Amino acid sequence: MIRVGVTGGIGSGKSTVCEIFALLGVPVYDSDRRARELMQEGELRQQIEALFGTSDRSYIAAKVFEDKSLLASLEALVHPVVAKDFEAWTQKQARRQETTSYAVLESAILFESGFNKLMDRVITVSAPIETRLERIVTRSGALTREQARQRMAAQMTDSERETKADYVIDNCGTLSELAAQVEEIDKLLKQ
Ligand code: ADP
Repeated sequence: MIRVGVTGGIGSGKSTVCEIFALLGVPVYDSDRRARELMQEGELRQQIEALFGTSDRSYIAAKVFEDKSLLASLEALVHPVVAKDFEAWTQKQARRQETTSYAVLESAILFESGFNKLMDRVITVSAPIETRLERIVTRSGALTREQARQRMAAQMTDSERETKADYVIDNCGTLSELAAQVEEIDKLLKQ
């Protein structure tokens, strides 16, 4: 089974792209959500509690935001567990009777985490900053324009991701233009 990573900056539309893949019948692994779940389970939870004194998500998020070395320590614990979980998930998908030739992993930090190395292909989703800001503010309401800007500033730029990706999806247009690009890549990946 071919492993395809989907990444992009905040508000680029990577979750939307993954929803379209799912509609096409492609199995999708949401690595950020799965990481959050795994952090609350088993040995990983114990290791996190040993490091932070708690497994409370918002406390940990605030701590690692202030301290880059603490973030690195957290990631060193979490990433191998997610990688293993993804591998097991992929094996399971491959055994399904009605399965596609490839599976998708969604990650906002695909390159930063080194997970791109576990992928056979990488897709990045790009969109102009102004468009992304508008979509984020409309989407959540939870994030202000300024908070969204700060998150963007902490992430790689679209052009940095584009040079490392196999496919670039340009999400500056409508949702149907987006879907058409996903369908095109789906065809290529099934060849
Ligand atoms: P990401 O996962 O990269 O942060 P999302 O997929 O959540 O981005 O997209 C951000 C918001 O923009 C969502 O509310 C989504 O529905 C919307 N959106 C994405 N692409 C488009 C598009 N082409 N046209 C209009 N809205 C879009």
